[in-house]
Amino acid sequence: MNAAGLRAARDRLRRAARVAVLTGAGVSKESGIPTFREAQTGLWARFSPEELASPQAYRRDPEQVWRWYAERYRNCIRAEPNRAHRLLADLEMRRPEALLLVTQNVDGLHARAGSQRVQELHGNLTQARCERCQRTAPLGDPDTLELPPPCPHCGSPMRPNVVWFGENLPSSALEAAYVAFLEAEVALVIGTSGVVEPAASLARLTAQQGGLVIEINPEATPLSAYANLSLRTGASEGLSRLLDD
Ligand SMILES: [Zn+2]
Repeated sequence: MNAAGLRAARDRLRRAARVAVLTGAGVSKESGIPTFREAQTGLWARFSPEELASPQAYRRDPEQVWRWYAERYRNCIRAEPNRAHRLLADLEMRRPEALLLVTQNVDGLHARAGSQRVQELHGNLTQARCERCQRTAPLGDPDTLELPPPCPHCGSPMRPNVVWFGENLPSSALEAAYVAFLEAEVALVIGTSGVVEPAASLARLTAQQGGLVIEINPEATPLSAYANLSLRTGASEGLSRLLDD
């Protein structure tokens, strides 16, 4: 690996007034959170993703969709944030005004590790959202979950607070992400293949403005072509190299 490149990146990261971070499934992997596809095992293997995670599937059989999300929810709350989550939370604590964390993950582990400013592009599966008043609520005890859970404000049924196939990403999170990557002096992209939009275009914005793009991923991705530094390793190991004193 390029030691001089790593030193320069560490230096730039330390001095940057604005840092934008995008995290994906690779960051939660070390906490044992299965990816969306990996979660489709056992009883769920016979369904296509669209049959479990789309507005049509939910209209057809809300209880079935909820059972799938309840199972994933149980896995999430049993999991613990890992070193990568903690390093990112520490980075924010040291430089609260500098950092915006954008995630494709729906497990809520960044917040549990202590990150405060998190934009969740795909929602959060530890929460439900009311179909009528649109307010969100935490799911609570997984063993006594009523499916679908009733809204604590108006009593209407609630749906998982995640973005499904065919749905738009939440516009406020998306706008915050674009602004952060546009203004960033350093963009850090961790554990995501960068194939899916908006992941693909976010770091490109930083690069176009002359910012530094750092990628941490065990495999090469489309981003690697224009990243200034690619650390071919897992999320915790890569972040340790970048951030540890
Ligand atoms: Zn409601």
